[in-house]
Amino acid sequence: MSRSSPLCIGLTGGIGSGKSTVAQIFEQHGVPVIDADRVARQVVEPHSEGLSALTEHFGQSVLQPDGKLDRTTLRQRIFSDPGERAAVEAILHPKIHAEIERQIAKIDTPYLILMIPLLLESQSSYPTTRILVVDLPPSQQIERVMKRDNLTKEEAQAILDAQVNREERLQAADDVITNIDQETLAHQVEQLHHTYLALAE
Ligand code: ATP
Repeated sequence: MSRSSPLCIGLTGGIGSGKSTVAQIFEQHGVPVIDADRVARQVVEPHSEGLSALTEHFGQSVLQPDGKLDRTTLRQRIFSDPGERAAVEAILHPKIHAEIERQIAKIDTPYLILMIPLLLESQSSYPTTRILVVDLPPSQQIERVMKRDNLTKEEAQAILDAQVNREERLQAADDVITNIDQETLAHQVEQLHHTYLALAE
């Protein structure tokens, strides 16, 4: 028997906006969450096809002695070399997308959350039906990131500056969660949960 595929809600937002916090609340409602960053790490685990494709292209220097990917070396190799960056993307993006599709195919709830921190910065397209943005004023984003990651204000600001700005992100949103405080956060997620269930029907 065939069944229709679940609604796929792309969850995004700037650094420290509260994506993981929001994703956890959806999980408490029984909604499956796929984390695109986690998938990106899975496809380069030791003995994976992704990792062997990278070593074929870059050589063994991108491996740590324990056989894991040496991310620092890889980052240095592609930093300021768009050709090499494109090569990594050509190797890994199809694998990431295939793995996401594989995980979605196993899901039998009406909808799922696909958390993609850099959805709007990314050139690749994801199988999302709607985009949910977690939003808060950049000053609060900076405060939270400084506290969580022990960064200076300048370091936190530099990360924000490298991302899509708040206006662009809000323009791309179908739905927005304003993460000012924990109390209204749970309520906003609950309301969206009902909206998504209704949309999925
Ligand atoms: P990243 O982009 O770095 O992956 P994120 O968007 O997933 O971050 P979280 O890790 O969920 O964001 O939240 C960032 C920090 O802000 C965490 O320390 C979290 O505990 C805190 N935080 C999240 N929501 C709130 C809130 N409503 N009030 C106060 N602190 C919050």
